Amino acid sequence: MEIEQQEQTIAVVDKNGEYLSHCTKRRAKQLVKRKAAEWVALDMVRLLYDKADKRRFRQEAIERDKYTCYICKKVMHKRHPELSVDHILAKNKGGSDYPDNLACCCKTCNEEKANMDLATYLKIYRDKQRERSVM
Ligand SMILES: [Zn+2]
Repeated sequence: MEIEQQEQTIAVVDKNGEYLSHCTKRRAKQLVKRKAAEWVALDMVRLLYDKADKRRFRQEAIERDKYTCYICKKVMHKRHPELSVDHILAKNKGGSDYPDNLACCCKTCNEEKANMDLATYLKIYRDKQRERSVM
């Protein structure tokens, strides 16, 4: 019981105001910081988009980038098995799910980049390319 009192829980409602779940205050603040939710009361946040919206954001980014991986420039298509999107600023660093923070990315680059920031990964990637061209 003591722990529950210390950790204030926040109600999460979907964009239509339907109750979804409870989360910690820390998590709620993170959602708001990522522009995924907004405060509607001291103990309640409302999500600004749902799963369908998220799919749309993803699709928008992919089409904007013309199905081209922003790292290795591989061109993919709608049903391409390597097609994915990458968060330019990682989610755990406050990056949003909106199209302006997403880039079309092939799975290989996405997995290799993992949680590195883009500048770090691009440096590694270019070094690798250079090595390949020398050999
Ligand atoms: Zn790639």
